[in-house]
Amino acid sequence: MSQPAKLSDVPQRLPSGEPPPSAPVEPILDSLFQSLLAKFEKTHPGEDSAPITAAFQLALKMHAGQKRQSGEPYLIHPLEVAHILAGMTTDRTCLITGILHDLVEDTGVTIDQLRKQFGDDVAACVDGVTKLAKLKFYSREERQAESVRKMLLAMVKDIRVVLVKLADRLHNMRTLAALSAERQERIAQETLEIYAPIAHRLGMGKVRAELEDLGFQYTDPQAFREILDAMESKRKASQGLLDEIRAAVEVKLRREGIPARIEARLKRPYSIWQKLKRQKISIDQVYDLLAVRIITDSVKNCYAALGTLHGDWHPIPGRIKDFIAIPRPNLYQSLHTSVIGPGGQPFEVQIRTEEMHRIAEDGIAAHWKYKEGNKHAVQDEQQIAWLRQLVEWQREMHDPGEFMSTLKVDLYPEEVYTFTPKGKVIVLPREATPIDFAYAIHTEVGNQCVGAKVNGRIVPLKYSLKNGDVIDILTQQGHLPSKDWLAIAKTSKARNKIKAVINTTERAKAVEIGEKYLEKEARRFGVQWKKVNREQLLAVASEYGFPKMEDLHAALGYGKFSARQVLIKLAPEQVEATERANAPVETPSPAALVERANADKDLVIRVKGIDDVMVYRAKCCNPIRGESIVGYITRGKGVAVHSTNCTNVQNLMYEVERKITVEWVRSTEDTFAVRLTAYADDRPGILSHLTSVVFHEGSNIKALEAQPDEQRGDGSAIINVLLDVKDKKQLERVVAAVRRISGIRDVERVN
Ligand code: MN
Repeated sequence: MSQPAKLSDVPQRLPSGEPPPSAPVEPILDSLFQSLLAKFEKTHPGEDSAPITAAFQLALKMHAGQKRQSGEPYLIHPLEVAHILAGMTTDRTCLITGILHDLVEDTGVTIDQLRKQFGDDVAACVDGVTKLAKLKFYSREERQAESVRKMLLAMVKDIRVVLVKLADRLHNMRTLAALSAERQERIAQETLEIYAPIAHRLGMGKVRAELEDLGFQYTDPQAFREILDAMESKRKASQGLLDEIRAAVEVKLRREGIPARIEARLKRPYSIWQKLKRQKISIDQVYDLLAVRIITDSVKNCYAALGTLHGDWHPIPGRIKDFIAIPRPNLYQSLHTSVIGPGGQPFEVQIRTEEMHRIAEDGIAAHWKYKEGNKHAVQDEQQIAWLRQLVEWQREMHDPGEFMSTLKVDLYPEEVYTFTPKGKVIVLPREATPIDFAYAIHTEVGNQCVGAKVNGRIVPLKYSLKNGDVIDILTQQGHLPSKDWLAIAKTSKARNKIKAVINTTERAKAVEIGEKYLEKEARRFGVQWKKVNREQLLAVASEYGFPKMEDLHAALGYGKFSARQVLIKLAPEQVEATERANAPVETPSPAALVERANADKDLVIRVKGIDDVMVYRAKCCNPIRGESIVGYITRGKGVAVHSTNCTNVQNLMYEVERKITVEWVRSTEDTFAVRLTAYADDRPGILSHLTSVVFHEGSNIKALEAQPDEQRGDGSAIINVLLDVKDKKQLERVVAAVRRISGIRDVERVN
């Protein structure tokens, strides 16, 4: 292949008909190009064709030496594509894109180079076609095909890209014979599933018909042959009839003064075949194999022609359709009827105006025809207006047809179309992440997802997927989803699967903890665990409403109630005897008092959003109302509430999933037991001073003891106070007041 040439080497302008100075142009290419130019100049009089010539020169140079599978020069293909586009009377940008469409993919030319020479529109269109060319479809199911079609339209910013793509596909289908049987099959299948329906949706009847018949020919050669043979014998038999019908229609219309041209024909192989399959009939039973098309000058004459035909030939009931009054979603308009013609032969008639005919043939491409002589109109806005018009039609018809849903992605992009590495399309809601993608593939892929590559690059799991992204999910055996994923996943499928896994693993953990906790507590209470039989246990479980032991264990593990509650039902004497034996006889120490006081105060905190969880304040930091707190799910004892700056809890929090949000329940009644230690000089009256200060702040002393500070040995004392406070603020006031007492060196809170 030749080196990519500098664009400056390419002549910007060549007088048509003159061969380029550098290399001799093969005659076939030259004549193709000349006829293309002639077509353009005929349909776009007065428009500058120089850029088309420049595109040809560039393509000639860059594709030089390249051959198609058939052995022909490669450039024949882009030129034929441009011819197809010229036949639809598309604009110059479209033609140039047709000529250049394979340049970026197959030669060294870049989009930037094209932009410099041909401007933004051509560059953007070639870029769009190149991107579509990179997509690989492996569709075999209807839903998948629909997704691909939607995605294709969603990826395209300029509708001209679709026109070029369809023309490209059409020419490839026309020349499919040169390829291997296997590739023929695949490309033809894709054409039937993806491209023909898109042509249909864009109202491009002619392109659609040819794509379908070619697709049929290569996907089912045998059926195609059979239909063709049957049609051929039909045609021979009915040629006379067709001529007769045409003549008869002509006479009738002339009699009524309706100007018209009349086409008489047999239906297309693919549509006949579809009909045979749908109605499970043979070709002899297809009564409207013959079709007549009447093209007249006005809507009024369409109806007049219909009336004339019905006056002479009997219409078949239920076959009259008025697509003029109610156009099809793709803007197709015509009157349809089937009548019993000469000799009792039924045939189908389509009646339309020239304008309707053009739209039926070229669809969205016909749009450019209206705009002739209006060259400077903003092309994009026209296209959007076209799409909007389609949507409007749809609304008026109250018929949420497929066309609407297909094109709506352009106007309301609510979905994102992504690919597996093998080319399967996965449709997800907008802003979906790789986690949604992973779960869309398979639950296990989702669960074991540890990372994702998008278009070959590693991305964070919270990455928002874009149209056309190819996603490769990295998995690891045995990996499980984390709670954080619930914030990342957007689809309910992914969220439900994540929740299910989290619940299962947490429950398994709780069951294990609950079981051990019960056994341990049984030992502590002197209950002979070996002697407790299963029936007794199950009876207790069912008292709590649990059908299985496992459920009881889980409830214990979650901290819903204590092991003691279970054990006292199993062996009340042992539990009570143990409790009596262990009951404290001496006066409670301040620490014990704190513990007991706090035990009664558990209800002042609750886990956010949950009511039936056992909550207690951790002894290590003894948080009081007003302090910032955090819950930690313990193994078997419910939720421990710590002060957020408690060093213990900070160390525990590496297990993020055990952290839980807790809050103070509003209540003014409760008080919290707090222990303070004060260091005092040896001064008389200091204790009474302290008690009065505490009392003055509205707090209440529950225990007080003073002892000499042995370490100092200078007569100074350590005073331990157990007091009730309402909240953090009150405690702060008490501490501040105690500090102000002369003779008090320091005060600290101890836990
Ligand atoms: Mn091509």
